[in-house]
Amino acid sequence: RPSPRIDYAALLNEEQLRAVEAGEGPVLVIAGAGSGKTRTLTFRVARMLERGVPPQGILLLTFTNKAAREMTRRVEALAGGFVDVRRILGGTFHHAAHLLLRQYAGVLRFSTNFTVLDREDARDLMVTCIAERRLKSDKRFPRPDLVLDLVSLAANLQQPVSHVLMDRRPELLPLAPEVLAAAARFQQRKAQLHLMDFDDLLVHLKRLLTHHPEVRAELTERFRCVLVDEYQDTNRLQGDLVDLLAGERKDLTVVGDDCQSIYGFRGADFTNIIGFPERYPGCSVHALTRNYRSTPEILRLANVSIALNTNQFPKVLTAAREPGVKPLVVSALDAAEQAAYVAQRVGELREQGLSLEAMAVLYRAHSHSLELQLELTRRGIPFRVRSGVRFFEQTHIKDVLAHLRLVNNPGDELAFKRVIRRVPGVGPATAEHLWTALRALPEGTALAEGLAHEDVRAHLPRKAREAFQAFGDLMGRLTRPEAARAPGRLIEEVLAGGYAESLKAESAEEAHWDEDVRQLAEFAGRFEDVARFLSEIALVSEFAAGEALGEEAPDAFLTLTTVHQAKGLEWRAVFVLWLADGRFPLSRATRLPEEEEEERRLFYVALTRARDALALVYPQSVLPRDGERILLRPSRFLQELPGGEDAPFERCVLSTLEAEPEAAVGQDGPPPGGTDPVD
Ligand code: ATP
Ligand code: MG
Repeated sequence: RPSPRIDYAALLNEEQLRAVEAGEGPVLVIAGAGSGKTRTLTFRVARMLERGVPPQGILLLTFTNKAAREMTRRVEALAGGFVDVRRILGGTFHHAAHLLLRQYAGVLRFSTNFTVLDREDARDLMVTCIAERRLKSDKRFPRPDLVLDLVSLAANLQQPVSHVLMDRRPELLPLAPEVLAAAARFQQRKAQLHLMDFDDLLVHLKRLLTHHPEVRAELTERFRCVLVDEYQDTNRLQGDLVDLLAGERKDLTVVGDDCQSIYGFRGADFTNIIGFPERYPGCSVHALTRNYRSTPEILRLANVSIALNTNQFPKVLTAAREPGVKPLVVSALDAAEQAAYVAQRVGELREQGLSLEAMAVLYRAHSHSLELQLELTRRGIPFRVRSGVRFFEQTHIKDVLAHLRLVNNPGDELAFKRVIRRVPGVGPATAEHLWTALRALPEGTALAEGLAHEDVRAHLPRKAREAFQAFGDLMGRLTRPEAARAPGRLIEEVLAGGYAESLKAESAEEAHWDEDVRQLAEFAGRFEDVARFLSEIALVSEFAAGEALGEEAPDAFLTLTTVHQAKGLEWRAVFVLWLADGRFPLSRATRLPEEEEEERRLFYVALTRARDALALVYPQSVLPRDGERILLRPSRFLQELPGGEDAPFERCVLSTLEAEPEAAVGQDGPPPGGTDPVD
């Protein structure tokens, strides 16, 4: 056994070191924010490599693919001298499941070029399923998104859709038969069309591991060590996958913080982490009690706040850093003043030498960033939204990609319908007829040949014939047997084949598309194989899109993000916006006491992202476009903090309304009792 080449003791504290050095077998690290869980996990990977575990024997599951890349980079710096760390399989559960399923698709009787559906594709398919069952005419029928959410939750909770419906949406019970029929149809269609949505990736992986012992043996043999970061946000299904992959050897390390479990609404279940010692008797359990991230002032605020949750694993967290400044609670008149304040402060901090990279603005919901985006744009402060518009879900991008999907899999009905709808004169009904006619042709008919067939063309309205011909020619060129199937080339062909023209015609005011499509083509140029390219794209998580495109901001930029997407990250200065009751906590997320606790955990996650400076901002009112000014209460998460001498924050009032907030009424009726210590 080689002696350690890495000086662990110099880089870790004793608690961390013990977790890194814990022998084989199950290891649990449960500890508060900023205590070095991720760091400990990274070092443990390095330690395993040092002990002789081959890199391809390590499975590292993280909250984002980017997080895995960053950890691998650190491991490279530590241990790269003696192993090729690129062979570590690191990334999200979906990423890992996807790679494994491509390899074992055959065992599950899936074709290896199965298509991965993103959310919008899944919605399209659900719309079709609802329509097919003639359920659309019923006005009360829930939106496709809602049915999708139920199906997804059911998959992740491993319960029948009917249970989830009863549990989470009792008001839909009268419609249950129709909803369940649509859900069943959805599942059936996916199977027929060789499609998998994100949840299916996990469901099928579990099926593979449970029903195919030989595959399970192969995989548990291959992954000698399994490590999971942010384990508190795994759901039942993911918990099971971890257990299955850990196999008999049970060389498994999980780290997390139950107080940062914020995906309950999607089925995450922090009893996975709390119950770990019961599931793995004799596991070694480690607490980390020193916070290296934040100043004691920031940490105190976070600790005081989270202590108000009743449901939590007891933990200690003390600051390792020197004292700094107290967090600031800032009350602004309205959203505009709030945005102006943040933009102003960001500018000032930047002048004082803090890079934009070192700052972030956090909020509860995507829409809370819009005023700020305008304000930052006005002031010329570069920023990047880590959440919000998803690059690959924009219509023009999806249209272009649909052509490629069709090339890859001529049986991809959704792609066909999306593409064909761009032919002028072809509506949804015609598209349906064309598709049916195409499917009726003898098996093995090439797509271009099919499109030219009289039985198919017969369904075209006269005015659509010419454009349809052009479309058929384009598909012919794209699917020529001798055509190189390099995705970059295919995209150029699509653009040259009239798509650019049609975009120009329809979106004069939206000038982004050609820049976007150009970027897409450039990105595609890195891939040789169209199937590979398409599945990569389907898996790009929303904020990784810019990054995947290699769109490194030329200069530093300010980060705007939802709290959910900020998990695990840190910045020197953090602003949290919209801390008004009804906005944060979000009113629809606080109907049940346990939901309020989840919102408070979210607040805790927000606070603990800050290293040196933290500002909590709220508007006292909103001004709807056509209405009276509506007064808002400060968030209950601010109101419940001690005031006066003892307050863990300083106050800053930018402007005050004439009507005093005593008379204020939040979005959801009168606020909870008690005076407002914030004022
Ligand atoms: P979160 O709960 O937010 O995911 P975490 O517990 O994973 O946080 P890390 O991100 O690993 O914490 O560490 C927080 C910060 O503290 C990082 O900047 C990390 O480099 C630093 N840190 C952790 N441990 C030490 C240590 N022993 N010495 C110096 N710095 C440390
Ligand atoms: Mg972490």
